[in-house]
Amino acid sequence: MNPEQIAHAGRILQKANFVVALTGAGMGKPSGIPDFRSEDGEWSRNSMELASLTNFRTNPQSFFNWLRPLMEHILAAKPNPAHSALAKLEKAGKLKAVITQNIDSLDREVGLQEVYEMHGSTRTATCVLCQTQVSAQLLIEPIRQGHLPKCPCGGILKPDITLFEESLPYLALIKAQQAMEKCDALLVAGSSLVVNPVASFPQLALRNGAPIIIVNFSETYLDRYAEVILREDVAKAIPAIVEAALV
Ligand code: ZN
Repeated sequence: MNPEQIAHAGRILQKANFVVALTGAGMGKPSGIPDFRSEDGEWSRNSMELASLTNFRTNPQSFFNWLRPLMEHILAAKPNPAHSALAKLEKAGKLKAVITQNIDSLDREVGLQEVYEMHGSTRTATCVLCQTQVSAQLLIEPIRQGHLPKCPCGGILKPDITLFEESLPYLALIKAQQAMEKCDALLVAGSSLVVNPVASFPQLALRNGAPIIIVNFSETYLDRYAEVILREDVAKAIPAIVEAALV
């Protein structure tokens, strides 16, 4: 890791009072969650169809076959040092919001409070008929046995993740945009910024002159505007930056 870049990023966060973190699949990787998009960062046509509302409605068995390995990875995952470092930054009063494209809820496991899950979460599921919300733990056994997870009322339990053809959770979307507009430093952690509309949010921060720190292995369209770019593992770089910021 480049110590000067870490120190520079630390100074940016030190000066800021309203830091926002935007996190993506790279945050889950050190926790053992694979990027479930294909290698080029885009969804393949096949996975887009499988992860769609139409597929869930017309062929739920095929939908849950697609979901099962992802659920297994998420259930086995533990938060990594990048999550803990963000929690420390929030406790210190610097970090005001985490906007995440991830559905693993590992941010909440380390005690982060202001988390806006733009693509929902696998923590809970909702009955399509009576709208009762249940813990996603109730889904995994039937899925493992090849059955459809069902509510006592007979309705299928739908995981609370945003599928293709569905709109993003409205409240989270509004809160995320407001946070971006207020932020005076933006930390992009493990996102290649290709999935919209979240990928466009940083423009709200840029418009107000907020400096941007990017920790991501691959290039992003925002690189040209970033103050600091670290092509590093978030589990190493984020704790180092937070340590430099909180001295
Ligand atoms: Zn029900």
